[in-house]
Amino acid sequence: YPEIAFVGRSNVGKSSLINRLIDRKSMARTSSVPGKTQTLNFYDIEDQLYFVDVPGYGFAKVSKAARAKFAAMIEEYLSTRQQLHGAVLLVDARHLPSADDVSMYQYLKYFNIDVLVIGTKVDKTSKARRQTIMRDIKKTLDLNQTDQLIMFSAETGEGKDAVWAWLDAQANIGGNHHG
Ligand code: GDP
Repeated sequence: YPEIAFVGRSNVGKSSLINRLIDRKSMARTSSVPGKTQTLNFYDIEDQLYFVDVPGYGFAKVSKAARAKFAAMIEEYLSTRQQLHGAVLLVDARHLPSADDVSMYQYLKYFNIDVLVIGTKVDKTSKARRQTIMRDIKKTLDLNQTDQLIMFSAETGEGKDAVWAWLDAQANIGGNHHG
C-alpha cells in the first residue's frame, strides 16, 4: 500500500490528528512495538493506505545517543521506502515553526517527498489572525509552491476534509520519486 508519514515535534498534536482523521475510517494498527517514542507505527487504513506515525522530535531533553538513533531511523526510512507517497508535517498554529520544524521540512524536501504542512490547534488562535499565521508559517518554512498548508483542529474537526482530500490524492499518484 501507499504510505504517508506523519511527522512533528512531540506534543504538537499528531496522535490527535490521526485519531480525528480515522474516526470515519476503519483502522487497525498492524505493527506496534512498546516504546512508541522509539519506533515507527503503521496504521492500516481500510487496506488501502498506511499511515506511518513517526516518533515526535524536539530533542531538548534527549541524549545524544537517542538523537543519533532517531536520525538514523528516519534516514533509513525516508531513503529506502518505495511506497512513501508523501509526508504530513505538523506545526503548532500558535507559534512560528521551530528550528527543528524547519530542519525536518528541509530534510523531507532533500528526499523529494511531497509535504502537506498542517497548522494544528488552530481552534486556539483567532480567526482574524488566520491569514497572517498562514503567511508566517509558509515564510518560516520557505514552503515550496507545490506543497500545501492546511489549518486544522482536532477539537473542532476543522480542516479534516481538506486533509483527507490531500491524502486521497497522494495515495493515488505514483510512489516516491527520489529513486
Ligand atoms: P502528540 O504528542 O504529537 O501525539 O500530541 P497529542 O495528540 O498527544 O496532543 C498533545 C496535547 O495537545 C494534548 O493535550 C491534546 O489534547 C492537545 N491537542 C492536540 N490537538 C489539538 C487541537 O487541535 N486543539 C487543541 N485545543 N488541543 C489539541
